[in-house]
Order: sequence, then structure tokens, then C-alpha cells
Amino acid sequence: MLTGICGINWGDEGKGRMVDLLSRDYDVVCRYQGGNNAGHTVVNDRGKFILNLLPSGILREGVVCVMGPGMVIDLKHLVEEMGRLKEGGIAISPENLKISDKAIITMPYNILQDVMEEDRLEKATGKPYGSTRRGIAPVYADKYMKKAFRMGELLNLARLYKRVPDIIDWKNMTIKAYGFQPVKAEDMINYFEVYGKQLAPFVCDTGLFLNDAHANGKNIMFEAQLGALRDIDYGIVPYTSSSSTIAAYAPIGAGVPNLKLDNALGIMKAYSSCVGEGPFTCEYFGKKAEKLREAGGEYGAATGRPRRVGPFDVVASRYGIRCQGADEIALTKLDVLDGYEEIEICTHYELDGKILDEFPFTDVLDDCKPVYETVRGWNKDLSKCRKISDLPKEALDYIRLLEKLCGCKIKYVSVGAERDAYIKMY
Ligand code: GDP
Ligand code: MG
Repeated sequence: MLTGICGINWGDEGKGRMVDLLSRDYDVVCRYQGGNNAGHTVVNDRGKFILNLLPSGILREGVVCVMGPGMVIDLKHLVEEMGRLKEGGIAISPENLKISDKAIITMPYNILQDVMEEDRLEKATGKPYGSTRRGIAPVYADKYMKKAFRMGELLNLARLYKRVPDIIDWKNMTIKAYGFQPVKAEDMINYFEVYGKQLAPFVCDTGLFLNDAHANGKNIMFEAQLGALRDIDYGIVPYTSSSSTIAAYAPIGAGVPNLKLDNALGIMKAYSSCVGEGPFTCEYFGKKAEKLREAGGEYGAATGRPRRVGPFDVVASRYGIRCQGADEIALTKLDVLDGYEEIEICTHYELDGKILDEFPFTDVLDDCKPVYETVRGWNKDLSKCRKISDLPKEALDYIRLLEKLCGCKIKYVSVGAERDAYIKMY
């Protein structure tokens, strides 16, 4: 069984939490795109963990984790993240973590580039892209320029070091143009020496490993970072990530372009949140926003930034479901709406007096206004609900309404951050 777990909205839907739960039925969990700009928070019997680079399956014994060629890997960040997990009692070895030789290395100068460009944008336009400033866009640009270093190069450092001076010369042309001090080749070599050497034992051809696992009947899960609306092609460009967050990309980004997913589970939040900049049509402001942000604990796991929030957005979610090709949905954080007598849903957008059903081109979003509908809330604590019959009628009505409006079956509903705080709907 090959399953993609993907985000339907703007990210932070609770993908990590669902991967942690569902990984009990899988032998392998792969991350297939993105870098340490992700923040997945997982709470289980072993503690609370924040994962940026490692697949969420790392928290489950017996699961093998893969970091695929579609990823960009900050060596220092990964070494430190592995160190934190090891301190928390999580075993990590080349037995349970395989890093693709084709995955790209995020370099310290990529982080510098990210900061320089966000600051330039802020000054020049007052509108930065809202990057996490972790070098992700510049390193993906280097990948497509064919100037990046790949994890497999760590297996022959002497050869890698021969490439460093020319790459550094090329990169310094950009850095100097921003008026910054050029970077030194020896510092880059030191980065590989200190961090690369520690990671080299994990590097392999993840495609061979995954094909073998699949041929032997193993179940494989592909874990996305960020949601459909942050996809580099289908998202709200340029306020997106720089990689493909779409489930269809999962086999490519994991190392098995020859395999097809059997199913895609879309993770969709019971309300909306959006960290950083960009159009967010259904956004709440003022007191309304504060109440929802507090109830949902909406502060970024990777950055601590307060997330923008709003009610459930049918237009954006339906688009997200289509982009992901989601077969089923896990609706998360329903308990966050516990304290509401009435719940708003953004059912449509209005543009120049016309009602829109479908998510429009990004530029148009700036002029769209939300159209809200109000339904009855349950105003009760859902956190102890474990089966459908535990749910108040209004909560079940809300789930069924979202199912109908979005045209996709809801298989799981989560009512708390803990591993077992969920309801299986069928
Ligand atoms: P991801 O990036 O999609 O993995 O999501 P994040 O981990 O960034 O954000 C989801 C947050 O909601 C985390 O802090 C989770 O611990 C928390 N969470 C997940 N599911 C639930 C839920 O059903 N109820 C509540 N109250 N919190 C949840
Ligand atoms: Mg997150």
C-alpha cells in the first residue's frame, strides 16, 4: 500500500500528528519535499516533539524513515534535530533513517541569501514574501541552476571539495551585489567536515530501498510538508514554498518515480490558518481572530510566529482537495471550535459583485471578499469524544456539511493533539 498524506490548506493542518497516528499501519514513512521550514508538532506517549526535517514516522519503533531526493537538507539543522530526538530517547541509526544521495544540501550562504532578499523586499516594497529565512527558496534555485551540492557527494569529500571554490566564486557574485561580505570556501568545507561527515552513513539510494520494500509487500507512507496552497505551481505564488507539496509528486520526491500512489489522504483543518504573508480571503481580524488563535494555539512550530486565522474556507479547501487528488479527508482540530454558539463558514468569494465558487488566480485573490454562512455550534467539550455517537448533533452536522460542500469523504476527525484523540468515521 502506497499512501500520500498531504495538506489541503495553507499548511499546519496537523499532518505530523496524523502521520504519527497512522504510521502504526506502515513500515516506511518518507518525506518527499521541502526542508526545515516545516514544523510538525507531535504529542504521543513518548513526549512532545517538533520535527522540521525528519519524517514524523521517526517517533515510532520499527518504522523506517526516508528523506527523499525532493528534499533540501540543512546539515547542521538535521544533526541538531537528530541530537534533540536522541536526548528524548528516540533511536536513530542508518537502520531506521535513509537519506537520499540525490537530496540537496542547504548551504549556510543560502540562508544568508534568504535573509538578504527578504530584507531587500521589505525595504523596496514593504512586502516581503514571508519566508522562514531558512534558505529554502535560494537552495531550490541553486538546484535548478545545477549549482547545488547533493547528499551523495558527502561520500567522496575529496571530490566534493574540488567543486567548492568555483561554486563559492559564483555565489559571491550575488552576495557582493547585495553589499554583503563574501563567504569563504574554507568555511563551507568546515560545514561539510563538521556536519556532513556525521550524516554520510545515512546516505543511500532511497529508490532502491523503497522499490525493494514495495516488492516485499511493505506499506509505505509519503508525508508532505505544507499544504496545497503553498505549492510552488498551484499555490498562492510567491507566498508559497519553493517545492511541490502535491501528493502526485510524492513518488518522484521520495525516489520512486516508477510507483503510483494507491490513495491520498488529505489533512484539512476544521477552520483556517495561514502563517506569513499572502492573500487569505477568509481572514478574521481583531477580537474574532484573537479568540480563534488562542483556542487553536496558532503559533508557528518552526518560527513561533502568530498564525493568521479564519473560519473554514470551502472555496480554498475544495481547490486544495482537487490539487491533491485527495480520496479521503482527515478533519483536524475540531475541538478548537468547542467554545462557539455559532460557527461561520466561508462558502464563497465575492469579486466585483459576482459570487465565485472556484478558487481564482492568485492576483485576483487580493480583490476577493469572503461570503460567510453561519451554522449552529455545539458549545461543548469534544476532547473526550472517541466515536461518532459521542459527538453532539451540531458537531456531526458540521462534519457532514463540510463533507458535502467539499465533495470528499471525511474518514478521521481529530479532537485533540494527543495520538488517541480522534474519531474514525467509517
Ligand atoms: P503540520 O505542519 O501540518 O504537521 O501541523 P503543525 O504541527 O504545524 O500544527 C498543528 C498543531 O495542532 C500542533 O501544535 C498539533 O499538536 C496540534 N493539533 C493537531 N491535531 C489537533 C487536534 O485535533 N486538536 C487540537 N486542539 N490540536 C491539534
Ligand atoms: Mg506545521
